Amino acid sequence: MRYKSCHLIEHGISLDVDCIKACCLSREFDKGQLMIEPKYEKGVIDWDDIFNIKKKHRNYQQNQGDLSACEGCYNLREEDWDEEDYISFINFDHWSQCNSDCIYCGVRQNKPKTKNNILNAVKDLIKKSKFRNNGEITFQGGEPTILPEFEKLLTLFINEGSKVRVHSSGILFSRAIRNGLKKGAVTVVVSPDSATKDVYKQIKRVDKSKEVWQTISHYRRNLKSEYQNLVKVKYIIIPGVNDNLVEINEFFEKLKKIDIKSLIVDVEYTYANRNMGNISSHVYMLIDYMEHFAKQNGIEFDLYDSAKYARQNRTVPQTTNMDSNEFISDFNRIQWENMKQNINY
Ligand code: SF4
Ligand code: SF4
Repeated sequence: MRYKSCHLIEHGISLDVDCIKACCLSREFDKGQLMIEPKYEKGVIDWDDIFNIKKKHRNYQQNQGDLSACEGCYNLREEDWDEEDYISFINFDHWSQCNSDCIYCGVRQNKPKTKNNILNAVKDLIKKSKFRNNGEITFQGGEPTILPEFEKLLTLFINEGSKVRVHSSGILFSRAIRNGLKKGAVTVVVSPDSATKDVYKQIKRVDKSKEVWQTISHYRRNLKSEYQNLVKVKYIIIPGVNDNLVEINEFFEKLKKIDIKSLIVDVEYTYANRNMGNISSHVYMLIDYMEHFAKQNGIEFDLYDSAKYARQNRTVPQTTNMDSNEFISDFNRIQWENMKQNINY
């Protein structure tokens, strides 16, 4: 039947620390169709119950209930959705512990500490033949590599033929991630947001820059050419902290040295949220500069959500002169102006 919905409402779950939702994007789960289990404890999941609730949500979508919780979301679309009961998208967000302490982290402030074991519930889903590997598994967290079950959980999905995306601090090396990269099953995203030890420490509040770059380098080593872009290195632009050309140029040198083939750029989300529609030209120039670098060096370039939304609301023109002295002088002038509106971390 044709109606407005999304792949996550139909066949996805997002496991939070104390509840199960359809996705992790909307902030308005109280509106009805996106909350699956408001109370979720100790990693026990009744899959029959989940599918019953999903059926109700499907009816809700078919009858065109209030879809305002999904308003503006790029995943919402009209399509001929199938009506079978299975899960093919799982987002693991069910713990908040981490070995980093990023200044911009929203996870540790907003989530209680838990130790939900989830492996048996996932095995149960597979045993019931209600898991299909045609979607995507994501690990957000917290830091996945410190979860005692992580290596087994990831290996389980790799063996199921799933595609998995893992967001990791990179402080610990994971054999399961490395194994998944070699098979082309895992994408790993590590976000050092810096190149130098001091700026890393200022952002992450732990002294692990060396370990993180070592991990990235180990993940990248000896991958087949078609899998080389599965190691993604991210730079979150944090106004007043790492938004300068010295740090970014050093970051580029590291990418070139390790031969990284995929770069993701984002803008620190509290800054982006507070300044949407009024993002500094300086930030746009940095995004342009990083995209230019990626193009020049044959590196895949992508933006994460805050940077994507910032680009959609862009009011300043694209920077075109970045190889010239003019760019540097423009940059310095705008950087100085920007310093006045920085937020304090
Ligand atoms: S349409 Fe967007 S906000 Fe709504 S459930 Fe899907 S991903 Fe979440
Ligand atoms: S790595 Fe992620 S979860 Fe850990 S402190 Fe940083 S932002 Fe938070």
